[in-house]
Amino acid sequence: MKEAHIMDRTNNNADAAKQTDVLIIGAGLAGLSTALALPTSLSITILSKAALEVCSSHYAQGGIAASLDKNDSVSDHIADTLIAGAGLCETDNTASILSAGQQAVQWLCEQGVPFTQIPQEHKQQEHRTKPLTELQTADLHLTKEGGHGCRRVAHADDATGRHIMEALIIKAQSAANITVLPYHEALSLLNESKGNQCQGALVFDHFNQRKLTFHSHAVVLASGGLGQLFKRASAPNVCVGDGVMMAWQAGCRLANLEFIQFHPTGLACGDSSFLISEALRGEGGRLYCPQTGKRFMLDVDTRAELAPRDIVARAIAEQINHNGLGYVHLDVSHLPAEFLREHFPQIYKTLLELGIDITKQPIPVAPTAHYSCGGVVTDANGLTDVQGLYAAGEVAYTGLHGANRLASNSLLECVVVGRNIATDLPRYLAAMEKLETTLPNSHLSQSIRDIWTPPTLRDSQLITLPSSIEYESDTNIHVNMNADITEITAKLKALMTSHMGITRNAEQLEQALLQIRQWQQQLNYCNSNKLAIDKKDNATTLNELPYFQLARQLQLAILIIQSAYQRYESRGGHYRKDYPNLTTTPRTSVIEPLLEKPKKQNLCCDKSVKKIQSQFSLANQDDALAGIC
Ligand SMILES: Cc1cc2nc3c(=O)[nH]c(=O)nc-3n(C[C@H](O)[C@H](O)[C@H](O)COP(=O)(O)OP(=O)(O)OC[C@H]3O[C@@H](n4cnc5c(N)ncnc54)[C@H](O)[C@@H]3O)c2cc1C
Repeated sequence: MKEAHIMDRTNNNADAAKQTDVLIIGAGLAGLSTALALPTSLSITILSKAALEVCSSHYAQGGIAASLDKNDSVSDHIADTLIAGAGLCETDNTASILSAGQQAVQWLCEQGVPFTQIPQEHKQQEHRTKPLTELQTADLHLTKEGGHGCRRVAHADDATGRHIMEALIIKAQSAANITVLPYHEALSLLNESKGNQCQGALVFDHFNQRKLTFHSHAVVLASGGLGQLFKRASAPNVCVGDGVMMAWQAGCRLANLEFIQFHPTGLACGDSSFLISEALRGEGGRLYCPQTGKRFMLDVDTRAELAPRDIVARAIAEQINHNGLGYVHLDVSHLPAEFLREHFPQIYKTLLELGIDITKQPIPVAPTAHYSCGGVVTDANGLTDVQGLYAAGEVAYTGLHGANRLASNSLLECVVVGRNIATDLPRYLAAMEKLETTLPNSHLSQSIRDIWTPPTLRDSQLITLPSSIEYESDTNIHVNMNADITEITAKLKALMTSHMGITRNAEQLEQALLQIRQWQQQLNYCNSNKLAIDKKDNATTLNELPYFQLARQLQLAILIIQSAYQRYESRGGHYRKDYPNLTTTPRTSVIEPLLEKPKKQNLCCDKSVKKIQSQFSLANQDDALAGIC
């Protein structure tokens, strides 16, 4: 196991040990909300893999959904979320998270987030907005986005994420108990050997090029999503699913990894990852076929451009397949120019710089990988399967998003679950302290289990992991020993987009699995070769990191593809061309933790599936683990 080898060396050579009460991995909205809501008596360290502004939270445009309007209700918000989630939302968690929406947005107001306000008509022009210190949720201007039955999305112009993050970063950096460490990459979690308890992380400090061991009483995973496993992606390059893999390796279950949400309208200009906010369609933007000028969504769904994202994304992909242009047109030029400039200043300015005046010209758009609905299984308080390990934000699976996230629910989830963690974590620490002072070590792990209740899932199906023997016996495997890390990474992204994209079928997924297995073998060869050279030259871990990162991404890609392969239906964001219909019982796909050996299971499937499945069945359980590592 290459990865274990690297981790052992990292462990042995650890340069320095650090102590903090709470370690938060990720400085996006989930991480910062947790940190700022925790008691100031706790010392908190927040890690960010790159610069602080490099996170999805910073790029969020549209806004944060909550039932704030007097004509709206929490139950309507829940109903819309459940419809988008297509039968796979965890209903208790959904209700719990959405019910806290108003308090979460109010909390953001109190942190100084400059949300766009409803102009106060009776006041003079220069006093038409309230000072930020007095801002209440009732003052906020709300937009409408796809899948929402009414105006429900609070925003700060069209750069909500940037405004939120700027306000929270100022708060975090000025808090005496919080240390924010950019360019510190967590490599793995520290599990206390006797129990299933998380007590810190191994970290690579890119500034000083050294390894650090952070010891903490609790860890919060807030490391974001995995969009960058795909070629066209809206998320920044830090989002490659590190947290999902660290949690899985530490003993957490993963759920619903196949539900990748593709945003319908990424800007289709070269390699741009710029997103054209859903709010443009919410305000009346229309999608047209560039060649015929036909408004094609009218034929697809009664909600036209405001249908849920998966429906719009598939319709656009279908158009692109036929038109061969690589894009369709999103047109807002029928809306008043002044309104567009005022409400969408960032989009207006960015596109103008690219030569597109949205008040006059249509925007070329194409779907882009955008959001991971699945992740590390948690409850609404962020508790995972591992004691002392919480998770929040896009890395986590609370079940709020089900098979398809309702627009703008994710920022809300970051804040609500982050704040819930901040309430639960002191309880956990106090209970632990009491146990440690009153109980002998031998009784500790049993008693810890009493103060940490792992999350439960409703109906689920276990995902079977692949066998290395099945892949290695394939004589068609051709390994190119000259390929390099950058090339494999680029090819992996292209493969995920083409074979695990908006639509998929068994053949594509099988091909993808074989290809990835081939890269794994190739990587193992390159890796040992390279490590040997590094050892001679006394090189640092920095040289090993790219191998470690790619190995992890290949593993994660397999987990995602296996989840898609073993879901024999189309639901929400998962569309199988060979299984276009829903099965009767919605089930959450669950991957057992790596620490536990996968069990043999009988999955419900038809004959053709059984045939394919038998080709990929486990030769033996140890082999399954070998295959995935
Ligand atoms: C372009 C775009 C627009 C969006 N618009 C909206 C919107 O309008 N409304 C909405 O609700 N949602 C929106 N989303 C989704 C939403 O922004 C994200 O789901 C949410 O911000 C995720 O927050 P997070 O805190 O979980 O992760 P992020 O904000 O992505 O932060 C992840 C953090 O983890 C760190 N990290 C990752 N790996 C490691 C590691 N190994 N070690 C240390 N640190 C690590 C990163 O450096 C980063 O600091 C949008 C997403 C994108 C990409």
